[in-house]
Amino acid sequence: MKITLVAGARPNFIKIAPLVAQIKLKQATGENIHFRLVHTGQHYDDAMSGQFFKELEIPAPDINLNCGGGSQAEQTAQIMVAFEKDLLQHPTDLVVVVGDVTSTMACTITAKKLQTQVAHVEAGIRSFDMRMPEEINRMVTDSIADIFFTTTPEAGELLMKQGKKAEQIHFVGNVMIDTLLKFQPQFTPPRLYQENKLKKGSYWMLTLHRPSNVDEAKELSQLLQFIGEQAGDAPVIFPLHPRTQKNLRVDKLPDNLLLTAPLGYLEFNYLIQNALGVLTDSGGITEEASILNIPCITLRENTERPETIALGTNVLAGRKPELIQNYMQQIQAGKWKSGQIPEKWDGRAAERIVDVLLQMDL
Ligand code: UDP
Repeated sequence: MKITLVAGARPNFIKIAPLVAQIKLKQATGENIHFRLVHTGQHYDDAMSGQFFKELEIPAPDINLNCGGGSQAEQTAQIMVAFEKDLLQHPTDLVVVVGDVTSTMACTITAKKLQTQVAHVEAGIRSFDMRMPEEINRMVTDSIADIFFTTTPEAGELLMKQGKKAEQIHFVGNVMIDTLLKFQPQFTPPRLYQENKLKKGSYWMLTLHRPSNVDEAKELSQLLQFIGEQAGDAPVIFPLHPRTQKNLRVDKLPDNLLLTAPLGYLEFNYLIQNALGVLTDSGGITEEASILNIPCITLRENTERPETIALGTNVLAGRKPELIQNYMQQIQAGKWKSGQIPEKWDGRAAERIVDVLLQMDL
């Protein structure tokens, strides 16, 4: 069986790592399964791409399509043109896409138009917020893919309501958590941890990269001021996504905000694991904080991952100052719910996915 695995952006690398490891394990036991790894180049620099390959033991991609930069439409178009060429030169039994980035959608459309089957890992999740580019990517991908690997039973139910058949849907758990649990023993403090004399529970972690939070420089600066004030004496560590960096007014930042370049996975999750609390607009980080049992405030009005609220440590605060203040105070007072682990978020999702693939007649 020949599989083409697609990855384009930071959260994708974290999701494909356990799939690659599991396929290699099966190859070592003599199974007939081969993969070609296509990097679309959506995220291209070392901080957003290269270091994840090294840390998460992902082999170098077979090809990098080098489709970084440009508007959403330009990027989608570039990826489709380049991926079509690659697929024609390297026909495959199945294209596997993960997550909800532009590459996920662009490669799904390209593959389907070439009559190639597509499996979507992390299928069926929805924020129902059409202002999020990721929501459009999810909807388009799920509407035409053939095989759906889901993180929750609810995601499968949504796909069924949209006309997918039960046999197309496989509830396997969460590949992000496979990576988290596998690499947890290797989490390591970044230099800034010692430099700033940080201790467990003495600081906040903050990440922001959604267009709705970072594209307006004035609003971004107000939000950062507010969070800085609420944190009081505690430092707020803020690894900067490239999109956020563009709009940051460095002259108007609170003193306790510690800016850093995007961190590697092992350092970033060391910081999450030891934080007092996390403020974020990322989806993946709400899952990681939940499993690490660290309080998490999502600076969005909705989430495509409701299980992080129902079972995990996450709450939604949007950009509402009273809510953010209230939640930060609760965390400071040590009053927070404990995270429960969603079903099958046990480190074995990739194993289940590859078992399903091996049983398929492609
Ligand atoms: N992450 C990281 N370094 C950072 C920020 C995030 O390694 O400086 C990891 C984080 O642990 C999570 C993933 O990147 O696994 C989340 O990526 P992002 O927030 O870009 O994507 P989203 O989850 O919003 O799709």
